[in-house]
Amino acid sequence: MNWRIYSLEQIKSMSKYAMDDPTSFWRDKTEYITWFKKPESIVEGQAPYDKWFVRGTTNISYNAVDRHIPSRKDKVAFYWANERFETKTVSYLDLYNEVNKATYVLQELGVRKGDSVSLLFPSIPEAVFFSLAVHRLGAVLVIHYVGLSHETLAYRLNDCGSKVMVVASKGIRNGNEIRIKDFVDKLLDSHTTPVKSVLVVSRGYSDFEVKQNRDIVYEDVKPKGKVYVRPEEVESNEPGTIYYTSGTTGKPKGLFHSHAGYTIGLNWAFRALLNPQDNEVWWTVSELGWPVWPMANLYTIPVMGITGVLFEGFIGYKRDLFSRVIERFNVNYVWSSTTTLYTLKSLGEESVKSGDTSSLKIILNTGEPLNVGAWNWLTENMPHVKIGDAYWMTEHLIPIACTPYGLGEIPYKPGSAGIVFPGTYFTVVDDDGKPLPPKQKGYIVVKPLNPATAKMWNDPTYEKIKDKYWSRFPGYFYTGDYGYVDEDGYLFVLGRADDVIRSEGERIGTLEVESIIGTYPQVAETAVVGTTNSIVAFVVPKQGVNPDDVLRNEIKNYCRNSGYIVDKVIFLKRLPKTKSGKIMRRLLKSILANEDPGDVSTLDDIKIIEELKQSLSQT
Ligand code: ATP
Ligand code: MG
Repeated sequence: MNWRIYSLEQIKSMSKYAMDDPTSFWRDKTEYITWFKKPESIVEGQAPYDKWFVRGTTNISYNAVDRHIPSRKDKVAFYWANERFETKTVSYLDLYNEVNKATYVLQELGVRKGDSVSLLFPSIPEAVFFSLAVHRLGAVLVIHYVGLSHETLAYRLNDCGSKVMVVASKGIRNGNEIRIKDFVDKLLDSHTTPVKSVLVVSRGYSDFEVKQNRDIVYEDVKPKGKVYVRPEEVESNEPGTIYYTSGTTGKPKGLFHSHAGYTIGLNWAFRALLNPQDNEVWWTVSELGWPVWPMANLYTIPVMGITGVLFEGFIGYKRDLFSRVIERFNVNYVWSSTTTLYTLKSLGEESVKSGDTSSLKIILNTGEPLNVGAWNWLTENMPHVKIGDAYWMTEHLIPIACTPYGLGEIPYKPGSAGIVFPGTYFTVVDDDGKPLPPKQKGYIVVKPLNPATAKMWNDPTYEKIKDKYWSRFPGYFYTGDYGYVDEDGYLFVLGRADDVIRSEGERIGTLEVESIIGTYPQVAETAVVGTTNSIVAFVVPKQGVNPDDVLRNEIKNYCRNSGYIVDKVIFLKRLPKTKSGKIMRRLLKSILANEDPGDVSTLDDIKIIEELKQSLSQT
């Protein structure tokens, strides 16, 4: 296929073709992976009952590891760096050897095809080794966030039924030591879970307890010589990995993606988004528990045979880290959460100018709408870098809308997530599910027919998935998001439908006001919520800015000049965010109304609730 040659209109026709004839569209994408047995059909059934690449068998681990030996054996599969700038290099041959050893040990622990295995790791090479080992056995991978509460993790372990956990002894983040194994001990001592064995990757430490009959230290049992474990044959539609949604709008939902269909969907998506070449380097700035990390580091980078960067820690720990990592590894592509891009902005120019970033071609945003202020800042300070966007959700992991720079020169429109992605179709509808003309605001719905759409876990009759996503607007999958499409087909996500502000008969998406405030020079970050009859803006000023009444009034005036009446501006030191870095506006709203906040299990730092209550009592 020739790349970077399609016009906007051609990409739109490609999307139409993908929807009209998914079998022809997806047939050639089966070549992204090596099959043990070729699929008998490309797609059977309609969403949410659809099955892909039916009766084909393969193994992700084979595709990510074995098939690069010998051709790429000396090539770097991953660079690793932590926030102290210690580094390591893993070649494809190392990856092959380490994945086989990890698989051997998991097999000895009794892990078999179809079992689920839970991982708790910082971003280190061993997390890749064990993830691919789980897939090698045809088992189901569940990667959890480090730092969830005991209750939340216990619930998830029961929900996915893992008998085996693999954990790192410790990690570092923002200068702090994170004692992962101690956390697991407390969790398993205080909660009933299915976990029988905990395999601990010591990382050279020994200051943790080893519980008899439960814990095994990996380094003690790791084979000394070479081992080989044959990858299991897995049918395309068998579960590959379970994800829990971010919990931004409510209790997180457990979903699974298939073993092969999902991998093919992602390999298509990233060819279209970035089109990385064989000698290029791609860094995904994400914690492990968010789908973004495995999407890049398990299902795409090693499947394509290119080079990835793993970064352990917090990118805001030191101002120069971001650009130094790019310089050190000659990074060509950064895929980042929106919150990370806001962190760079709040750290100031030094964050993107300390190191030489001339190798960098694209920064791809995901997670939240990227506000115009941040986009301006990034393009001013890194004019050689294209900023791209991909709007997707755990349930739908090829983009719903994006800037497919890998396919053509797509103009970027600030504030927009981009255009339709070939393989899916979105539209905006009114309260009755009627499609709306361009520029009119409404609910974003999708007609997904692609192999990267998740099914719900523990939902054999599809009742839960139909109820949750397919019932609100019959015939459509409902994203829960609010927005509009412009005349050129660009989608503008304006926020969550739950957060829409009703003001004097108008409906306003949170991003509309946040985008204005975000361009105010003294503002680092902002979140806007609507109460019964007012708009309240929570504002985090840039470092060194005095949050006084003068600034408060200036922000209000600034909004008024753009047509929005903000009734109250409340200054905060930080915003409440989920583990994946998304602003939890419903928490701000509930604290304002003095109501129960509901499920806050994925809140990044639970202490923020008290902090918010205090800030609010002072206003
Ligand atoms: P929950 O479903 O548990 O409330 P969540 O929706 O935040 O949490 P995710 O699946 O991680 O869980 O996030 C998907 C959502 O993130 C989308 O529905 C959308 O609101 C937002 N999103 C993701 N990427 C983008 C983007 N590039 N632009 C705008 N919004 C985005
Ligand atoms: Mg969601």
